[in-house]
Amino acid sequence: MSGINLLIFFNYFNLFFMKITKAITIAKKAALNSNAKFRVGAVLFFNDTYVFGFNRNFNVKHVNRQKPFSIHAEEMCIIKANRIMNFDFENSTLVIVRINKKSDLLLCTPCKYCQGMIHKFGIGTIYFSV
Ligand SMILES: [Zn+2]
Repeated sequence: MSGINLLIFFNYFNLFFMKITKAITIAKKAALNSNAKFRVGAVLFFNDTYVFGFNRNFNVKHVNRQKPFSIHAEEMCIIKANRIMNFDFENSTLVIVRINKKSDLLLCTPCKYCQGMIHKFGIGTIYFSV
């Protein structure tokens, strides 16, 4: 690899690292809005478009649902991104984090339902906190 190629590679890597860092910061902030027991935040980004979501319990009865329900952070992200015209799910990256009271990251693997949704929308890359 020549010097120039290496430089481009490192710049690209650095840019991607910066984007992931930004996504984690946004996801952690989003998780603070959660009213669920396990606070989860997620960010779905493509180029410079960042969409965030957090898990939330709805205690009011919804018109179409009988029981109080909850929405997962990943789910909220996908729903929001789906409203954006030409959002490129295939080339997008999903970052999912779970935080404790001290804002430390905890393990957060997407549930079966969200995994199905991620697969259905064909999201290219997924990162979750461990
Ligand atoms: Zn889920």
